Amino acid sequence: MKVAPKANDYRDRWAGDLRGGDAGTSVRVAGWVHRRRDHGGLIFIDVRDRSGIVQLVFHPDTSGAAFAAAERLRSEHVISAFGQVVEREEGNKNPNIATGDIEISVTEMTTLAEAETPPFPVDEDVEVDETLRLQNRAVDLRRDVMQRTLELRHAIVKTMRDVLDEGDFLEIETPILTRSTPEGARDFLVPSRLQQGSWYALPQSPQLFKQLLMIAGYERYFQIARCFRDEDLRGFRQPEFTQLDIEMAFVEEADVIAVMEDIMTKVFALVDGFAVPPAPWPHMTYADSMLRYGNDKPDTRFGLEIHDVGALLKGSDFKVFEGVLSSGGVVRAFNAGARELSRSELDGLNDVVRIHGAKAVAPIVVGPDDGWAGNLAKFFTAEQISAVNAELGAAEGDLLLFVADQEATAAAALGGLRLELAERFGLIPEGRHDVLWIVDPPMFEATGDANQPWTAIHHPFTAPTSTDFSDPGALGSRGYDLVLDGVEIGGGSIRIHDTDVQAQVFAVLGMGEEEAQRRFGFLLDALKQGAPPHGGIAMGVDRIVALLAGRDSIRDVIAFPKTASGGDPLTGAPAPVDDTQLRELAVKSTYVPPVPAAQS
Ligand code: ASP
Repeated sequence: MKVAPKANDYRDRWAGDLRGGDAGTSVRVAGWVHRRRDHGGLIFIDVRDRSGIVQLVFHPDTSGAAFAAAERLRSEHVISAFGQVVEREEGNKNPNIATGDIEISVTEMTTLAEAETPPFPVDEDVEVDETLRLQNRAVDLRRDVMQRTLELRHAIVKTMRDVLDEGDFLEIETPILTRSTPEGARDFLVPSRLQQGSWYALPQSPQLFKQLLMIAGYERYFQIARCFRDEDLRGFRQPEFTQLDIEMAFVEEADVIAVMEDIMTKVFALVDGFAVPPAPWPHMTYADSMLRYGNDKPDTRFGLEIHDVGALLKGSDFKVFEGVLSSGGVVRAFNAGARELSRSELDGLNDVVRIHGAKAVAPIVVGPDDGWAGNLAKFFTAEQISAVNAELGAAEGDLLLFVADQEATAAAALGGLRLELAERFGLIPEGRHDVLWIVDPPMFEATGDANQPWTAIHHPFTAPTSTDFSDPGALGSRGYDLVLDGVEIGGGSIRIHDTDVQAQVFAVLGMGEEEAQRRFGFLLDALKQGAPPHGGIAMGVDRIVALLAGRDSIRDVIAFPKTASGGDPLTGAPAPVDDTQLRELAVKSTYVPPVPAAQS
């Protein structure tokens, strides 16, 4: 800890800060009983506070009443102890803990609180059921791994704030009770008591407010912002999550990217051994990423790059490929290298691609003399085979995996397959971290729905690269995403600052003038009042902490998270409310509880 505690009746030193040099001094420490051992008449107690642990020794002869009290101590009791720091005998020193050279020979001890037997051990890093951990979060958060993670989270957020403060950014709060914002997820709604029949929405992001702040002349804004999206949850999603939200006026892509690289370089440096290549970080176009990695958040730490081999295989006797190619689809493949996979393992790969909507994978093993083994080979000419081998850099024994489908499906399927194989064969080099920008994304994506054919890839306030809206599918946008180790950790864009362009984007999205005015009128009106060119970005704080702390789930880096079903096992939220509360809000529930299954 950086500052010694202010001395009071409970303590005058942090337990974890005591060292050999303190031997001979008298100290008072306070904390929780981490572990206790009785040894030949002596009682040893490891006492833990946030700084770490220190060993207390109670002697039957010299500890007086404290010895009897120590006999009654159990795990997680809360104590304050006074005594002399003594150097441990050579053989008893413990090099595994920072205070391992010394112990405190206790002469006074007060039990401040007793604890029930903890629901799981605090002193060992054992696998514990997550619901049990969340229900007993106060105990769970005592565990060393959780404390270190939340310390890292603090350091990361503080670094972000410090860098931005030095760069003249102002931290400004924006409303939590607001109206629907445009990130495209479902809103959480809050009924209004004072204006019955009307609802607030919780912000999916501060997007519109930060743009207003640019129009208002604040130039450089940031906020550690809580955002709310009612989505189905996975390991890297939570209904409420934290973004580092940034907006700047009179900037282009390169300006926002440079600020972010400065911040993130300092954030990465917080973790020893988390080595990323020095900025500036590479840029990859969205199209390139979709082609070579099958998604817009490429994990570039291993190969297995996807190639389009449709043109090389066109005109073959293989009906499946020909059918797909003639219906406007693609044939794509990657070289999985020399892998021994059994028939059933190869069949199992079909399950992986089916998750992404593809029908099957065609596996081909490269044989001798630049040929292909197996029964698919006969459908292709020697020239076709050799051209594909050359494209995929294939050598004898390599396994080539093909998917033929509509472009988006084939891309996603092979993208999923490459990640699966990387995991299965341990292809990601230990300790390697890749960070890169995905740039030049399209403005719109086709939905396949005739009534509303387009949706915005980012959000509808992202600036398009041209004002020719005749072919929305061909329009690029000024967006950028930052990807770390195959995870999107942030994204943003240069915004539209012209009302006509904004109106045209809404029109493509099927939003008439009236609807646009109703939903976003306050921004559209402000855009008419002198809007500077502006742009920004939002970084996912929870994801960044999880990746830096090496945790698989963002639940492990949030003090009080929700489970996958959106519940909080600690408080029991969400929970039914009293009828009186509903009446005050003029809200009536139509929910009918399910009939319990008949007892058998
Ligand atoms: N508001 C956007 C989001 O939450 C980020 C941005 O465009 O700055 O994804």
